[in-house]
Amino acid sequence: MSKFAQLGLSSQLTKAVEKSGYDAPTPIQQQVIPLMLKGEDIVGIAQTGTGKTAAFVLPILERLKANQHKAKPKHCGTLIIVPTRELAKQIDDNIEKYATHIYHQRACVVGGVKYPKQIKRLNQGLDILVATPGRLEDHLKSGNLSLAHTETLILDEADQMLDLGFFPAIRRIAKQTPRTRQTVLLSATMPKPIRQLAAELLDNPRDVAVAPQATPVERIEQAVMLMEKSEKRPFLREALENQFRTIVFTRTKHGADQLVKYLSKQGVAASAIHGNKSQNQRQRSLEAFRKGDENILVATDIAARGIDIPDVSLVVNYDVPTTPEAYVHRIGRTARAGREGRAITLCSPEEQKLLRDVEKLIKIKLPVENVKAGGIDEDAYDPMRAAAKPVKKTSDGHGARTDKAPRGKRSDAFTDKRKPKRAKPHRKGGPRNGEKTEARDATGQRKKRGNKNPPRGPARNRNRNRAAR
Ligand code: AMP
Repeated sequence: MSKFAQLGLSSQLTKAVEKSGYDAPTPIQQQVIPLMLKGEDIVGIAQTGTGKTAAFVLPILERLKANQHKAKPKHCGTLIIVPTRELAKQIDDNIEKYATHIYHQRACVVGGVKYPKQIKRLNQGLDILVATPGRLEDHLKSGNLSLAHTETLILDEADQMLDLGFFPAIRRIAKQTPRTRQTVLLSATMPKPIRQLAAELLDNPRDVAVAPQATPVERIEQAVMLMEKSEKRPFLREALENQFRTIVFTRTKHGADQLVKYLSKQGVAASAIHGNKSQNQRQRSLEAFRKGDENILVATDIAARGIDIPDVSLVVNYDVPTTPEAYVHRIGRTARAGREGRAITLCSPEEQKLLRDVEKLIKIKLPVENVKAGGIDEDAYDPMRAAAKPVKKTSDGHGARTDKAPRGKRSDAFTDKRKPKRAKPHRKGGPRNGEKTEARDATGQRKKRGNKNPPRGPARNRNRNRAAR
């Protein structure tokens, strides 16, 4: 019996996961799949990269297989709400992958695309609907969809939905679903407003918490380059030479566009994803990046969170993020699935306070390299130069730089070890960033929490495994 079958999944699904190349369930899957199959409400602390999508998609499909009833027009059996269009598409693709042997009707309803096709799909009735809150509410208000028979509600990446101000919409949407529904809420972090939402929407939920495969901050080589704002562009241009899959983060959409323009003028092909791009443009850029047709993606925080692109070798924080949590999310785009990764933050003097906030959160003193001001000259701007120095843990748990970079010695903070080295000679023997920086819990919130959510009133007869679609 396969390890997935032991969790209660039938052969159609175990075949699908084996075909995807998965040997064994991840920790979040081990915990969530049996609970979901039992019909429990779940609050899960899990980041992207832990296999959380399959954790909720597989039980949904298992239940669908058992109840092959045609979905009612303008209704959906399972509703998955996510913060971004890209994440919606990613989940939809996952469902398609796992559900090859299971008859189902599904749709992905997000903003930025035309309504008629979506309305047509909703009219047919859906087993599974993946949606972003704004467009979903539009359809609900227009009467294109009713949630009166929705049995399962999944709220994925709740922390980002909170950041984006979606909680009022989530509350309005949840009110339109039956109280007997099964609700699963997943989030990378669990601040108070999310606990509050969980207490309102979930019934006696089971807590599930997993650390990511390896806490990203622990595995990522990180460095900060101190420089004037005006020096960032030429520095970046140089740094991107010969890079394999790099994501560059900017604070604003305008900043992302400007940077892409600048890079294009410099002969560096890059494209931007952010909220002002149409859904098609965003999808095209992501696909080009995923396939390796384009190696550089310039992104804003919102557009990039939750996106699972394997093998990103370098993350550049062109701007220091305004919230320290965003730093953790950004650098988590690299070093996925056990691979190596590097993250470089370009920090201007005005941004140093923000950097301190990041260090406080991740409990690491980031190694800093002062980039000499005064325009590009080979020595000052060669990004191969020492960026990340070994960090020694001090008694307070913070790191401290242990050495000064010998002039002219280089580290490989920017070097992609999977690609041939740059054409320029790479002098060996410089201070390497081999010593991994230490981090304890980056978010500080992955511990399993006690159940603070009392059941709402008498036990409800949820009878969730019945066919009610
Ligand atoms: P997620 O956390 O859902 O974004 O998933 C991260 C990645 O893990 C995706 O590329 C999945 O295809 C992959 N994945 C999911 N479940 C497993 C598993 N049991 N074994 C190996 N990889 C998995």
